[in-house]
Amino acid sequence: MSRALRLFPLCFLFLLARAASGPQTGADSSPKYVVSQPLFDAIATEYSGERALDNIRGISQFHRIQASPGFTQAREWVLTRLHSYGITDVEVERFPSDGHTRYSTHVGPMAWAVREGELWTDAPFRERLCRFSDQPVCLSTLSNGGEWRGEAVDVGRGTDPASYEGKDVRGRIVFASGYAGAVHREAVIRRGALGVVIYPAANDRPEHPDLVRYNGLWVQAEEKDKAGFGFQISHRQWARLRPLVAAGTLRLRAKVDAELHSGALEVTSAYLRGNDPSQEIIVVAHLDHYKFGANDNASGSASLVEIARTVKTLLEQKKIPPLKRTLRFLWVPEHFGTVAWLTKHPEVSGRAVAAINMDMVGENLVKTNSRMNISRTPDSLPSFLNDLIENVAEQVEAADLVSPNGSHNLFHWRMTPYSAGSDHDMFNDGAVRVPAVQLGHWPDWTHHTNEDTPDRADSTTLLRCGVLATAAAVWLATAGDEDAMRLFVFVGLPAATSSARFWKRIPLGSFKGEDWQTFDRLRPEAERRLERRRMILHEQQVRALRSLNALMSDGGREQLDAMVPAGKDILATRARLQESYEEEKLPAGMLRVPRKKYIGPIADGPSSPWFKQTMGADYAWWQEQKAKFPEEDLNSQFDLIVYEAGNFADGKRTLAEIEDAVAAEFGELPPGFIEGLFDRLAKIGLVEWVAQKK
Ligand SMILES: [Zn+2]
Repeated sequence: MSRALRLFPLCFLFLLARAASGPQTGADSSPKYVVSQPLFDAIATEYSGERALDNIRGISQFHRIQASPGFTQAREWVLTRLHSYGITDVEVERFPSDGHTRYSTHVGPMAWAVREGELWTDAPFRERLCRFSDQPVCLSTLSNGGEWRGEAVDVGRGTDPASYEGKDVRGRIVFASGYAGAVHREAVIRRGALGVVIYPAANDRPEHPDLVRYNGLWVQAEEKDKAGFGFQISHRQWARLRPLVAAGTLRLRAKVDAELHSGALEVTSAYLRGNDPSQEIIVVAHLDHYKFGANDNASGSASLVEIARTVKTLLEQKKIPPLKRTLRFLWVPEHFGTVAWLTKHPEVSGRAVAAINMDMVGENLVKTNSRMNISRTPDSLPSFLNDLIENVAEQVEAADLVSPNGSHNLFHWRMTPYSAGSDHDMFNDGAVRVPAVQLGHWPDWTHHTNEDTPDRADSTTLLRCGVLATAAAVWLATAGDEDAMRLFVFVGLPAATSSARFWKRIPLGSFKGEDWQTFDRLRPEAERRLERRRMILHEQQVRALRSLNALMSDGGREQLDAMVPAGKDILATRARLQESYEEEKLPAGMLRVPRKKYIGPIADGPSSPWFKQTMGADYAWWQEQKAKFPEEDLNSQFDLIVYEAGNFADGKRTLAEIEDAVAAEFGELPPGFIEGLFDRLAKIGLVEWVAQKK
């Protein structure tokens, strides 16, 4: 354990800072919280969980699929509501989206105008299985328009060629359990089936027999003429149909009234301007998905409207200080729109101090058996933002806020290591570097199903998450030297978390934790690697402290410099790291320096087949590697590692340094993985080599 202590001399700085910031904490402030209690109380009193819930009811009435007319209607609803509050400083930007135009690795989807869709059994009995206007989620998004009749055939998962061996699906309707987009591509585009009906896999929430999942076909422009339809059915429906499909006696009829066409990804900004136009704080939510879908993510979009109203009201009433930095509220089409927007606006990197992503923030946590997770920034982007948000969450919990018509549930929340899967991925990206936290519920058995409905939303949860985000956003938009120094004492404390995570991931495959003799016999190279990872983590903590600079004046920065000679500290760490690499005499390949040339995680799914197609024969290697990593909860460990490896590829680190940085965060990597990864990404232009160190 003494090793761990040596690692974190920051405790000493912490004491220094506490002394330094002592006199600056006014009488009205609790030393426990960064946000002053009067500011917090003003926000908690004005913010309305009931209004946020009402906004959910407004937004969830639209089938708001990215780039489609329903999305535009939801966006117009948001603008009308903002207007009614006198928030008129808004801007809508449009980016072509046609199933062909690509933003980094994301292909903008085709627009989809849908009016109705029905699926019927024709024989041996007649029954309607789905009607879009009753249950929008039972029709796969981007289904083509048309009318079809055919015999049913079951192909199992249906997402790979093996599912189709010995089966003739041409002219038939395919039943499968895989994701609709992947099944449709294999069955309809490649093999001439008419369409697909997706049933839940046996192990997919069998305790909820009426769940219908949200699925999309993600038809690409060149596939449009061959595209068919897709529907989703429940466990209960499948249990009834399955014997008929197996016996070859089920015939179906499908009819869809819809068109696929070119459209635009619409990104909406609303501003509450600060005095200094050079800096802004972004509060972001994705405005999609399906009609009636409430928590994901009408709740985040609805909250943004209420946050904007609250801040505007409090500014007018002079109950909060004037904003220094602009507050930008950003409603996006998830992933695609955010990548398109950040690609067009590289200046956001320099201007945005922080981003808060509100993605699923309104659940009744008892009804959904869930909790509020706050995802920290990844280790590639250490930031004070994590400590700020954690501190405000503690303040929210202590305030025990309850909305008049809401639940009295426990506020069940926790900070988590980086968790991917929404728009904060794009902001935290190594090419963008805007620190972003995400607020979101997980686990969630209603996620992406017909069960995610407004009646499972809770105005109390909305109030708590909304006050959390508003208090943090207002603090970020108004903070100066004194506030930054007040937060300073909390930054660096998470070292404990990092070190705990770190010690769980020591680079010894054979070490089981109880075998201390093995630990004593650490091989020298393993020790060297361990030492390097310690240095990397130390450097990240110093960077987290230094990130406060973004909030400070020149004078404040000098003061911080005097207290934390972090510049020198980082240089010394760098030099020691360099020595360590030289001692090890690494192969030349690992001393190459790559730079990443794309934004966001690599899109590798049915919605963006570009990556798979472009990788060609190398895609087999990709899948082989992926199989070596466990799937953890919502995130694929492999995807997280690839994402972070990219983020560390800043044009300065060698492959050896990137490998160590990723291993410090996630644990040992398979030998040769990092080099293999970057060689392949360079081949398809996603990475460039900028230097070769000796
Ligand atoms: Zn979603």
